[in-house]
Formats: sequence, structure tokens, C-alpha cells
Amino acid sequence: MNPDLQRTLVLLKPDAVQRGLMGRIISRFEDVGIKIVGAKMILASEELASAHYGDLDVRRGAAVKKQVVDMITKIGPVMALVLEGIEVVEQVRMMVGSTEPKSALPGTIRGDFAHISFKYADKKGIGIKNLIHASGNLEEAIIEVSLWFREDELHSYRSVHDTHILE
Ligand code: ADP
Repeated sequence: MNPDLQRTLVLLKPDAVQRGLMGRIISRFEDVGIKIVGAKMILASEELASAHYGDLDVRRGAAVKKQVVDMITKIGPVMALVLEGIEVVEQVRMMVGSTEPKSALPGTIRGDFAHISFKYADKKGIGIKNLIHASGNLEEAIIEVSLWFREDELHSYRSVHDTHILE
């Protein structure tokens, strides 16, 4: 892989899939010239979901980890994507916005398509429906991409943006 490029893992969570927002969210990444190099729909196993949210219990508490694991194993499938681009891990996190939709800035995916709060999710005892996951940093991205995708599910191809970005 070109050393100037990074890859990051994105999950369109069950609320995004069920609300019919997959296309609009994916378009945002395509619009900025980020390349999709892997894509598949998965109903995650308990093992996969738990590994993916590895230290979430330490950071947010065991109850929250259980709620989010339940969300992606029981409510419905996620659309898993691997995105590739220049410093794409940080760029995608910025496009996604902060964890709580209520606090996510307009212009971000969470800020534009959702509005609920931590307080509301906690009162209901559910994982906060914030539409999307994106790897937090490059180290996590490398681990998460390999957790969700086999090497032969990731593709190399030329996009029109390569001419402008890489040459
Ligand atoms: P992010 O997804 O923004 O990186 P975290 O890794 O901290 O955020 O949390 C993972 C997921 O757990 C969040 O996207 C959200 O769906 C859920 N979550 C986090 N904190 C809470 C909370 N207090 N109540 C309900 N769900 C939460």
C-alpha cells in the first residue's frame, strides 16, 4: 500500500441501515474523494462485537458495552466499510462528529442526521443511536480493519481522485 495512505474502519450501525441512510452517508465519503476499498453487510456475532468494543467497559462502563454489543448483534446488521485516503482516520472522525448526537456539530454525520442525548439513552438503558462507528486512531484502525475484513476482501483499484491526489 502507498505509505501516504491510511485505512480506517467504518460501521453504519443498525439505526443507519434501518433508517435508509447508508447511501447518503457513503456519499459524504465519496464526495471528499475518500476511496471505499471494502464493503459488506454483517450481523455481528457476540465474539466479534465484544472484541470490536474491547475496552469500552473500561472507558464507559460494563452496562454501556453490553448495550452497544446488543445493538450490533441483535437489532440488525451493520454495513462495514474500509475507507482509504490521506490521513483518513482523523478526517473520517471529524466528518462523523462527537459521540452524543445532541452535541455533534451541524455538518457532521451525527449532527446532521440524529439528535438524541446520553441522558435519554441512559434513561432507556440503550446504546445511544448515533448511526456510525469510525476507528479512533491509526492503531485502532489497523486492528479493527483486520477484525472485520480478511485481506482478500480489501480491494485495490484506480479511482478518478487518484490522478489529483496521488500523482
Ligand atoms: P465513539 O463511537 O464516538 O468512538 P465510544 O467509543 O466512546 O464513542 O463509544 C462507543 C459507542 O458506545 C458509541 O458510539 C455509542 O453508541 C455508545 N455509547 C457510548 N457512551 C454511551 C452512553 N453513555 N450511553 C449509551 N451509549 C453509549
